[in-house]
Amino acid sequence: MQQKGPSGPQGFVVQPRRLPKAEASVRVQDFGEIIVKPTTENVEVQAGRCTDCGVPFCQNACPLQNNIPDWLGLSAEDEMREAWRIASATSTMPEICGRICPQDRLCEGSCTLNQSGWEAVTIGSVEAFIGDTAFDNGWVEPIRPLHERAQSVGIVGAGPAGMAAADRLREQGYQVTIYDRHDRPGGLLIYGIPGFKLEKRVVQRRTDRLAEGGVEFVLNCEVGKDVTLDQLRDKHDAVLLAMGVYQARALQAPGAGPGSTVAALDYLIHQNRRDLGEQDGGWHHAEGRDVVVIGGGDTAMDCVRTAVRQGAKSVTCLYRRDRDNMPGSAREVANAEEEGVVFEWLGAPKALMSKGGSTSAVRAARMALSEPEFGKRRDIVPVPDGDFDLPADMVIEALGFEPEAFAAHSPELSLSQWNTVAVARGGFATSLPGVYAAGDAVRGASLVVWAVRDGQDAAAEIDRYLKAQAEGVAA
Ligand SMILES: Cc1cc2nc3c(=O)[nH]c(=O)nc-3n(C[C@H](O)[C@H](O)[C@H](O)COP(=O)(O)OP(=O)(O)OC[C@H]3O[C@@H](n4cnc5c(N)ncnc54)[C@H](O)[C@@H]3O)c2cc1C
Ligand code: SF4
Repeated sequence: MQQKGPSGPQGFVVQPRRLPKAEASVRVQDFGEIIVKPTTENVEVQAGRCTDCGVPFCQNACPLQNNIPDWLGLSAEDEMREAWRIASATSTMPEICGRICPQDRLCEGSCTLNQSGWEAVTIGSVEAFIGDTAFDNGWVEPIRPLHERAQSVGIVGAGPAGMAAADRLREQGYQVTIYDRHDRPGGLLIYGIPGFKLEKRVVQRRTDRLAEGGVEFVLNCEVGKDVTLDQLRDKHDAVLLAMGVYQARALQAPGAGPGSTVAALDYLIHQNRRDLGEQDGGWHHAEGRDVVVIGGGDTAMDCVRTAVRQGAKSVTCLYRRDRDNMPGSAREVANAEEEGVVFEWLGAPKALMSKGGSTSAVRAARMALSEPEFGKRRDIVPVPDGDFDLPADMVIEALGFEPEAFAAHSPELSLSQWNTVAVARGGFATSLPGVYAAGDAVRGASLVVWAVRDGQDAAAEIDRYLKAQAEGVAA
């Protein structure tokens, strides 16, 4: 599609990249999203920077294969409704992915402008704007299946994988029930990811749409405890396992353990509950404290930035590798630095020190990276006599997540060597007939956009299976 837009065919030269972001000193005052909703003019100008380069590297780098050049072109022309039609054809939650995808590693990282020294088009921001505009204008259609089917699907987990699958299956007329052990649907979108990246109302309008479209939510129901997988298999014609990964890796160091540290997800859930208007139930709070967060992934970034907003005295992120070798998004590190977080790179926790029975410091070893070797991640080695102490009266462990022992309740369910649910190559079928799995439960800790992709694709595979069952043909 030929780009015209207000900035003309060479818009990327005339118009620099502009992502409307709240000033750090302002945004740390609350938990609202830091990316400010752009004006229509800003969206038109930014979308008009797309050069329509002919080889859509951005689209190839998007796990959903979103038709980015087309909806950018339409946005530049203020054809928002058509842009929405195209954006929603490949994604069940464009306004959510547009907010929280690590675009620097996905679509925007591959944008031709980025590759050729100009700054990338603000693809994520435009996508979020298209989705928000669609909700504001009532263009987001309710789920109204053309005809109802008697077959039912039970989904374990109301996170993005389960939600995406429910959306597509309900559209096809299946009776869909989602079971979740939490009291609200949304998975990590509602209780993990903080409001400054994704406001709760954005998630809730999606879960509301599913409920209004006939998806049944059974909350406060833990599969494996309150109901067994076998019971779900008896009740439903197919089951999708989309229960994520929640076993937090624990810090192995003298002095560490319950009481001396806070688990990252507990900490984030407490703040998310506050954002949702719940009364404070004696939850962890960083106000006035010296906080050290151990870890270098996106969960660690969310914790340090939450602590800043809670009014911590100091916030330090301790990570054993350097900036270039951390798993978290460079964009989130930059946001955290702007908000006053100190990064202690190449520091590995050695022990938690205490005074009067309370944690007072983290003792850390200074590390160095080993010499680079072809095809190998560089190792870290301690620097002799490099120990140092970081004052800390609140230590948050953000060392990543592994699958829980879900399979203990279903011994015939095959697992991978990483304890994730094993699925057939190139698909979503598990070792149990009629049982499928998707999202983090299969991939291990990953991204929302991959969970959405898996949920949508798993729904298509379940649809084929159920249709074959209905016709009496083995799928
Ligand atoms: C703090 C944090 C920040 C993140 N930030 C980002 C980000 O900015 N961008 C990004 O793309 N990704 C981010 N991620 C990763 C992303 O959230 C996940 O990859 C994604 O949510 C996985 O989706 P899912 O549906 O597979 O699982 P989840 O979102 O984990 O949902 C699983 C659901 O299953 C439920 N459940 C689990 N076990 C059971 C059971 N036995 N019975 C019933 N219900 C059960 C859980 O309560 C949960 O609601 C972040 C992750 C964390 C932890
Ligand atoms: S889903 Fe994510 S990767 Fe794909 S276009 Fe949107 S922001 Fe980019």
